[in-house]
Amino acid sequence: LQQITIRRPCDPHVHFRFGLMLALVAPLHRLFHWSLAMPNVPEIRDADGALDYRLQVERAIGTDGDRAPIIVPTIKLTHATTPRMIARFAGDHYVKAAKLYPCKKGAAAGVTTGSHNGIHDVTLLTDVFKAMQSAGVILCIHAEDPDTADPWLREEAYLPQVEWITSHFPGLRVVIEHISTAVMARFVEDAHANVAATITPHHLRWTRADLYDGGARPHRWCCPVLKTVEDRAAVRRAAWYCERVFFGSDSAPHAIEAKEKDGGAAGIFAPAEITMAAEAGRFLGGEAGLTFGPDLAVYRAHFEQFVSLRAPAFYGLAPAEDTIVLERTDWRVPSSYGGHDGLPTVVPFLAGETLWWRVVPDAAG
Ligand SMILES: [Zn+2]
Repeated sequence: LQQITIRRPCDPHVHFRFGLMLALVAPLHRLFHWSLAMPNVPEIRDADGALDYRLQVERAIGTDGDRAPIIVPTIKLTHATTPRMIARFAGDHYVKAAKLYPCKKGAAAGVTTGSHNGIHDVTLLTDVFKAMQSAGVILCIHAEDPDTADPWLREEAYLPQVEWITSHFPGLRVVIEHISTAVMARFVEDAHANVAATITPHHLRWTRADLYDGGARPHRWCCPVLKTVEDRAAVRRAAWYCERVFFGSDSAPHAIEAKEKDGGAAGIFAPAEITMAAEAGRFLGGEAGLTFGPDLAVYRAHFEQFVSLRAPAFYGLAPAEDTIVLERTDWRVPSSYGGHDGLPTVVPFLAGETLWWRVVPDAAG
């Protein structure tokens, strides 16, 4: 069997949830060297919350022989976040980033408790951004404007807010999460060295047409919503060429009952064994009959850059010293995970599809 070896990958964008969902999904992320845990569900707003959540996730993810996967916690920025909270937060070397979720202007106006819903005006965070810049805390941005009614236009509508941040705080390292449009891909490619982006495997694979593939497909419904063929081509190009663009699964599990209903939840559940196999197939090919020439080494190098090397470089974390092996063999993705021992049933990315590459289970695991 044809095999390739890459440095162990990292996932700088994952939603681990809590309780039984955490118990189900965390072990399915054990493959990664480190994972950046998003702070929205449960909501994490300060250093104490971040460190407590880190321990919860580490317990749930477990160890792999001698290797303990690293959980990098984040906090959610609100209009109540202070520079002092950032300084305290930055004191722990595990803590690397704070996440900006935009909220509707109307929702926040005149409502004090609305300060916990997210950020309605980035200019009000000037002192917080200054504190993050000097402490070296990375700003992760969910770049979508919730005041734009059409979900297909929300990402580009948020670009002026992103530009305001990156131009006023050039020393602040910024990661624009899950970019999905040609407009945002071009912005990141042309931006200065402190601006990076993640791209999900689902935005690299699907377009909006895949939402209506033989009927409505609720397990492909996500935020940002899937875009056009042209947008997908632009993010694919950025994933290949731009050294500040890296993999981020945005794995966001919901129980099957929450997805398959009117008003179903957005989010795609993306276990490591699926995303790594899917990305291997996208970078390396391998459809039956395809033979690899000397180009395989080039494809392998780009794949490794995208999933294993660029994120640690930008985050200032060491890349993994150890490696994983993928082999060229057909493999069928499970139709669901969980559903036993009280665990929720969750339908994964590419459920039931056949992939061309498979992560070789670790002999120690
Ligand atoms: Zn996310």
